[in-house]
This record gives sequence, structure tokens and C-alpha cells, in this order.
Amino acid sequence: MVTITVDDKPLQAPEGSRLLAACLAAGIYIPHLCHVPGVDSPPASCRLCFVAIQGQAHPVTACTVTVADGMVVQTDTPAVRRLQRSGFRLLMSAHQVECCRCPANRACALQHIARFLDIGLRSRPYPTRLKDAAPDTSHPFLVHFPNRCVLCGRCIHVCRERNGASLLAFSHRGFDTVISAFGATGQTRLPCESCSACVAICPVGALSLKSDLDPDQGD
Ligand code: SF4
Ligand code: SF4
Repeated sequence: MVTITVDDKPLQAPEGSRLLAACLAAGIYIPHLCHVPGVDSPPASCRLCFVAIQGQAHPVTACTVTVADGMVVQTDTPAVRRLQRSGFRLLMSAHQVECCRCPANRACALQHIARFLDIGLRSRPYPTRLKDAAPDTSHPFLVHFPNRCVLCGRCIHVCRERNGASLLAFSHRGFDTVISAFGATGQTRLPCESCSACVAICPVGALSLKSDLDPDQGD
């Protein structure tokens, strides 16, 4: 174990663990979307878990830092909050906010982070720019909503863990990146209907079982 100081309180953390995981395990919340408990090398794609570490000129992402004995960390500085709010607004600039018809409503990580950062779900001052992509209903059991997806990759990870190889993957590039069920769309004998681990681990409302949706959803 190593001893670190977070927000002026001492904290014991397993040697070799990541700072984000250590803080979360101790009940210290840091905004995050792509972190999966137990995964050692996180994708660090959501760019929200910034913290300030004594001796470092700029805030860093807590999911990529390994704890070290004597490390001194602040999770709530003006620079940290500025980066988190900017990152969150940028994320929301490509997000279709439609909470009332979304299955994640009231349990959504985006709603939680917006409340925590004391900002709204809208992307202001950044303009909203959505993907030209309708909900993907090509999978026999799942619907994917590209404009709700935050591209955290958690669904891919959990599918790989359950099935050996993931039935889901990122497809396309850059702004057009979406989650796709390559090669799985024509098969009806997939484990997905009884598994649905990807739906459960999605931090937002971007994946749903078709059987759980109202008939007018996924249009
Ligand atoms: S994913 Fe979250 S923020 Fe987006 S529409 Fe659904 S509930 Fe609202
Ligand atoms: S579908 Fe959900 S879990 Fe998968 S990448 Fe998008 S937001 Fe993350």
C-alpha cells in the first residue's frame, strides 16, 4: 500500500493502482465516463477526470496516473474545474439531449456530471453538431443511438469479457465514429438478448434492448 493525500486527507491505495480508481474506491468522486473498474489500462478517451498533482504544472487525467507514496492531489481547483467543464461541454456539443424519451433518464452519468459540475446539459457556448446518423436497428436485439453515445468503449470491453471476442466495435473515424455490431446483424442466435451486459454498462442511454423500447423509439 502507498499513502497519498487527496483534498488534504490521507488515503491508502494499493501500490500500482491508478489514481482515479483509488479516489473512487475511497468515495472521492471525480467525473469520468470511460473508466471501467478493474481495467488497468484505461482508454482515457473522455478527458474528464482531471486532477491537480503537486509538482506538476498542469492538471492531468487521474485514470492515467499511477499512485506514488507521498503524492499530493487536489480534485477541486479552478483549473481542474475549467478543464472538466470545457471537456463536458465539448462532449455535449455532439449529444442529442432528449432525456424525457431516453431510458437512462435520472440514472444517466451525463446528468450526474452536469449536476456535479453545476452546469447544464447543453453545450453552450459551443454550437451543437450532431452526427448524420439515425438509430441503428440492424442488430436483431439491440438498438444503438449514435447521437447519445459518448464513445467510452465500455460496451466493447464488457462484451469481450463475456464472449471472448467483442461483437461490438468502433467503426468509421473521427467525428463519424460510431459503435457497430459488425457481422452480428443477420444472426438471430446471438447471446445478446439474454446477456445485455453492454446495455447495463453503458453510462448513458445509447444502447437499448429492442424489447425494452417503446414502439416509437429507434425510429
Ligand atoms: S443519454 Fe443522458 S443526457 Fe442524453 S438524452 Fe439520455 S438521459 Fe439525457
Ligand atoms: S454505446 Fe454506451 S457504452 Fe458503448 S461506447 Fe457508446 S456510450 Fe459507451
